[in-house]
Amino acid sequence: ESFHDVDMGEIIMSNISLTRYTRPTPVQKYAIPIIKAKRDLMACAQTGSGKTAAFLLPVLSQIYTDGPGEQYPISLVLAPTRELALQIYDEARKFSYRSRVRPCVVYGGADIGQQIRDLERGCHLLVATPGRLVDMMERGKIGLDYCKYLVLDEADRMLDMGFEPQIRRIVEQDTMPPKGARQTMMFSATFPKEIQILARDFLEEYIFLAV
Ligand code: AMP
Repeated sequence: ESFHDVDMGEIIMSNISLTRYTRPTPVQKYAIPIIKAKRDLMACAQTGSGKTAAFLLPVLSQIYTDGPGEQYPISLVLAPTRELALQIYDEARKFSYRSRVRPCVVYGGADIGQQIRDLERGCHLLVATPGRLVDMMERGKIGLDYCKYLVLDEADRMLDMGFEPQIRRIVEQDTMPPKGARQTMMFSATFPKEIQILARDFLEEYIFLAV
């Protein structure tokens, strides 16, 4: 197996070769073709499985194909903690190197004014913790009208941390494209009842993957 099995375009391929990733991990091997085929996905995968690249690579590849444009964010990644959000953002920067795609990250416990100014410079792929994103939405600083790709990372941890109301506010607000009009990917280490309900509510005819 190799990353060349699926055509992700030149930018992605050259940025992969700048990393030390030589072979796709199992979650990457199975999730990348599903996401490239524009299907919704519920993936059960642990931290350390390579799940971040499993969604970032095909989503960024699709953004390059679509053309990043002036309307954003095109893609939103929700993550439970500042630490995880920053890790996803770092990985997104690696894979968007030398492209016109601009990733941004927002999380609680840091200066919101600075994060707003950063977003105003343009943001194609936004990585956010739920509470901070709701705060920004309430201040009218971020709209999600153009969000075609939505990722919930570590969904079970977000629920454990009590973020379900914030997640529902974000995903079920009027401006967010409805399911079917966006592509939604959920990643979770476990698949308890609450995650099944979230998957039923947020995903459209999804593929279930467990690695
Ligand atoms: P994650 O599960 O996304 O947090 O990734 C866990 C670690 O594996 C991170 O440090 C990644 O940089 C690394 N990683 C992800 N995909 C690969 C790959 N295909 N080959 C080698 N390392 C990888």
